Amino acid sequence: MNPLPSQGLSAILGFVKKLFRKGEQAAPQAGSTLPRVYARPEHGISRSQISENALKVLYRLRKAGYQAYLVGGCVRDLQLGREPKDFDVVTDAHPEQIKNVFRNCRLIGRRFRLAHVHFGREIIEVATFRALATEEDEGGDRVVENGRILRDNIYGTIEEDAWRRDFTVNALYYNIQDFSVVDFVGGMDDHKAGTLRLIGDPEKRYHEDPVRMLRAVRFATKLGFLIHPSCAEPLPRLAPLLGGIPAARLYDEVVKLFLSGYALQNFEQLRHYDLFHQLFPLTDECLSLEDNAYPLTFVAKALENTDKRIAEDKPVAPYFLFAALLWEPVRIQAEAAIAKGVHEIIAYQEASADVTDEQADYTAYPRSISQPCAMFGSCSPASKPATAAGRSAC
Ligand code: ATP
Ligand code: MG
Repeated sequence: MNPLPSQGLSAILGFVKKLFRKGEQAAPQAGSTLPRVYARPEHGISRSQISENALKVLYRLRKAGYQAYLVGGCVRDLQLGREPKDFDVVTDAHPEQIKNVFRNCRLIGRRFRLAHVHFGREIIEVATFRALATEEDEGGDRVVENGRILRDNIYGTIEEDAWRRDFTVNALYYNIQDFSVVDFVGGMDDHKAGTLRLIGDPEKRYHEDPVRMLRAVRFATKLGFLIHPSCAEPLPRLAPLLGGIPAARLYDEVVKLFLSGYALQNFEQLRHYDLFHQLFPLTDECLSLEDNAYPLTFVAKALENTDKRIAEDKPVAPYFLFAALLWEPVRIQAEAAIAKGVHEIIAYQEASADVTDEQADYTAYPRSISQPCAMFGSCSPASKPATAAGRSAC
């Protein structure tokens, strides 16, 4: 058979590329022909799945003459047939106007000014539509530093509100007026395809808020979605941006990543995208020690146990998680000191203090768990090495 002339080969390659592109939806762009409105029979959300208090808030806002929608995680989870963690409402009423509609309402937040409407133990969060960050917008009540949004209280329309959200599946609006779902960004198509995709230019959106990289991993594992290649590709390259995020915010993200039932998958995905190193550099260095397969299985086992406990509705504690994740750096440092003649108890005490201190620069934990004794003296009996050393260290 004759070899294909190079022109023919590139034509075939072009054709194959086109074939693969055919089923793929173009990345959403602000101001395109959307929104698409999905009437009640075209989506899976029924009022019976919505919290009564959330419905009260929606109806009360409508009665007062404002627009009112459910948005974000609750619409996404309802569409997947899952029970939402909470219900977020969005409206064109400004915070002070929201406060005037509800007696049981408190305004909170500086970075995002929000209203909390209290019903006993349930809080319904009500936000005002906000506009997308643009380069010209660095005045007013928006504060942008090095591309990062520090304060964002510029109100906008529902469409502007949709474009500033993170992922397309997090930007669907359930309209209480006609029970439809309003989609400006192609979120319903991504839902059907199981695709997690940032709205707009992925690199720009990660620069604006690097925590979106962690959210990409968290939602992909939780929903069983695939991160779109255009959003996955920049992750290892942009991972160091997490160094600019306040350690307290990273602690909150770590808790969500590792104490929500998907710890093991998140751990593997974070390592895959070089994100884990940004959160737990000391642990990551130990995990890459090739002459010892033990630490990798220890952390994975502890995370697997955590997931199992959550699945069985048993309580889980952040200090156990941190003890498991930091155990190996503590052990290595302590054993090195013991080899130099330091007493075992002193060596472990010093190592746990040093490691917990250093880790606090990356994920600042609350006081209650930041004492090395709280962390390393309280490991579960199942984690034998940590228990033995942890107890002896305290
Ligand atoms: P979960 O079920 O984990 O609470 P969620 O989608 O509700 O998921 P939240 O952190 O509660 O996540 O945020 C609510 C909504 O606010 C998101 O769905 C998204 O639309 C928007 N959002 C939150 N964080 C960001 C962010 N960093 N950048 C852009 N939009 C965000
Ligand atoms: Mg939420």
